[in-house]
Amino acid sequence: MTATSTPHAASSPPPDAATALEARSLVKDFRGFRATNDVSLAIREGEIHAIIGPNGAGKTTLFNLLSGFLKPTSGEVHLFGERIDTLPPHRIVRRGLSRSFQISSVFPTMTVRENVMVALQSPTRLPGQFWSRLSKLDELAPRADQILADVGLADAHARLAADLSHGEKRQLEIGISLTQHPKVLLLDEPTSGMGSEGIARVTNLVRQVAQGRTVVLVEHNMSVVAQLAHRITVLQYGSVLASGAYDDVRHDPRVIEAYLGDEDHA
Ligand code: ADP
Ligand code: MG
Repeated sequence: MTATSTPHAASSPPPDAATALEARSLVKDFRGFRATNDVSLAIREGEIHAIIGPNGAGKTTLFNLLSGFLKPTSGEVHLFGERIDTLPPHRIVRRGLSRSFQISSVFPTMTVRENVMVALQSPTRLPGQFWSRLSKLDELAPRADQILADVGLADAHARLAADLSHGEKRQLEIGISLTQHPKVLLLDEPTSGMGSEGIARVTNLVRQVAQGRTVVLVEHNMSVVAQLAHRITVLQYGSVLASGAYDDVRHDPRVIEAYLGDEDHA
């Protein structure tokens, strides 16, 4: 595994940092199949926390539970000490938790800047609300351009989203998430399907947007995890196999046996 030699670049939040996002005994059943099995997890304010685990381990389901897109069968989710699993997704967004999707959520026939303006206008990503308030577009452009600069897409603002590279689309998705002023940002496999150049770009971008925020990311690339994550949680068959400081968990024999030892994920 190449990750063992990668320097750990991010500085950790203090150990007494407040809990930003907490899962309490989360269970999610899909017609008898338990996709999430008693998951408890506390994400500290200011940390970058990676969720790793094999395909089908329940990582995306966990994100859906944390962000309110799925209701748990049992258990609770708390954001800055307040229960949120009872709230609809848009109200969770307003409380400061945003996610980007594993499946692209950009509108391909709109320009890059229009995509950001839609998001600024309509947190729920419903284009109808956007088109009914076209007069406000001009007011949104400067803010949209600032976000595009922040995610490295300033020069791409007039291009159609459909024409972006895979890596640029992920940059745009992160920009779209940033429109909601998230305090906690959930990123589901931000580097999936990318070549090494895109991976490096998105890794830097995640580190940058993590400043002053809490980030939880699902990530398969262990080199990216090594560069970014303060703490990691390993999921297996819907359960937490191990959770803790990156250096401790990656040396945990159960983790090596179950996930890291038999395959090169880097
Ligand atoms: P991961 O993101 O770790 O690859 P997922 O959370 O997508 O895993 O899926 C975990 C398990 O739950 C898989 O076996 C998947 O088939 C199942 N699953 C996910 N969503 C649904 C659903 N809506 N209905 C039924 N089964 C689902
Ligand atoms: Mg997934």
